[in-house]
Amino acid sequence: MLNRGGRGVVISFHSLEDRIVKNSFRRLVQGCTCPKGLPYCVCGNMPLLRVLTGKPLMAGEAEVEANPRARSARLRAAERL
Ligand SMILES: [Zn+2]
Repeated sequence: MLNRGGRGVVISFHSLEDRIVKNSFRRLVQGCTCPKGLPYCVCGNMPLLRVLTGKPLMAGEAEVEANPRARSARLRAAERL
């Protein structure tokens, strides 16, 4: 749903949720879904995203102090290409 240049942010509160986000981002960053070993790309899929967060961002000490439920939150962001 993002416009080109638009940024999407996902916050997850569980490591398995974060894994889904991470893997989904990776799939959209990669674009091409051709099986390995093809001499050239036949799927024509282009990368859709650029990931802005290498590691997920986590709440700092002060924020966790004020809001303990932020402790497990992980934020990942990506930009639509
Ligand atoms: Zn391909």
